[in-house]
Amino acid sequence: MKLVTFNKEHLGIVTDAGVVDVTDLAGLDANFWPPVGMVRLIADFEALQPQLADAVASREARPLDSVRLEAPVRWPNKVIAFPANYHAHIDEMKHGVGSGVISKYKANGQGFFLKANSSISGPNDAIVLPPLEGREIHHECELAIIIGKRGRGIDAACSQDYIFGFTCLLDMVVRGTEERVMRKSYDTFCPMGPWIVTADEMGDFSAIKMSLTVNGELRQSAVTRDLIVDIPEMIAMASAVTTLEPGDIIATGTPAGVGPVKDGDIIEITIDGVGTMTLPVTSGTVGNHSVWNATKVPASA
Ligand code: MN
Repeated sequence: MKLVTFNKEHLGIVTDAGVVDVTDLAGLDANFWPPVGMVRLIADFEALQPQLADAVASREARPLDSVRLEAPVRWPNKVIAFPANYHAHIDEMKHGVGSGVISKYKANGQGFFLKANSSISGPNDAIVLPPLEGREIHHECELAIIIGKRGRGIDAACSQDYIFGFTCLLDMVVRGTEERVMRKSYDTFCPMGPWIVTADEMGDFSAIKMSLTVNGELRQSAVTRDLIVDIPEMIAMASAVTTLEPGDIIATGTPAGVGPVKDGDIIEITIDGVGTMTLPVTSGTVGNHSVWNATKVPASA
């Protein structure tokens, strides 16, 4: 099943005929704030199966191109993100920041970090670059896991029970040595979408292919079998520390090929079995601060 958030806070199921509105089945109206509708739909998903099936069978669908898709999960409890998690990308970071710090960038030795939930944007939103002179802002192409139910201390062998689905995610980052959370938390630095594909439709989780282009040129390409920390172990590691909640997002780390983007670029991310998200890059006027000039560092770090 494909699930979308559309036209602000409406929830939908994507069928061959278009988008079927199921907002009411999550027990909220579309004007409710904060926008936690998809979190509730995910939490109640199993119990709602009869009503959702009935809605698909009986309700009129709107053409997909007649609605505005938003980030599928707009108000998660948290966005967990893994750093360099493919061998080839670690080699790249090694060359960028020099030897002696390689282990620092390994997801299996370093664990995970968080991005601000407010950095989430949708498949129809531009990525807005803050005006930071002399800094590179990079794209990171990532598969996102959407968590389906609450859990702590989850064994890797049971991890599949906690995976609700998958979506495309871009982990945008200002390169530098400031706190990583700050460098990755600008508004629009976490585009997600265009929809959640439920886990039952994804096949083998270790054979998911993804790619990213900038202005049509291939920059990143990978398959999940090349992950250092695989999907079950990411869930085990994250849940060792925090209680995972329905709707939580895990960005699974980037493969090789990260690079700078600039105003006017078009980024396209494709994940096989999920879909494609095409995003324009624009320049913003807000976002500079003296903290970015406090230390002079290589732009590539
Ligand atoms: Mn990343």
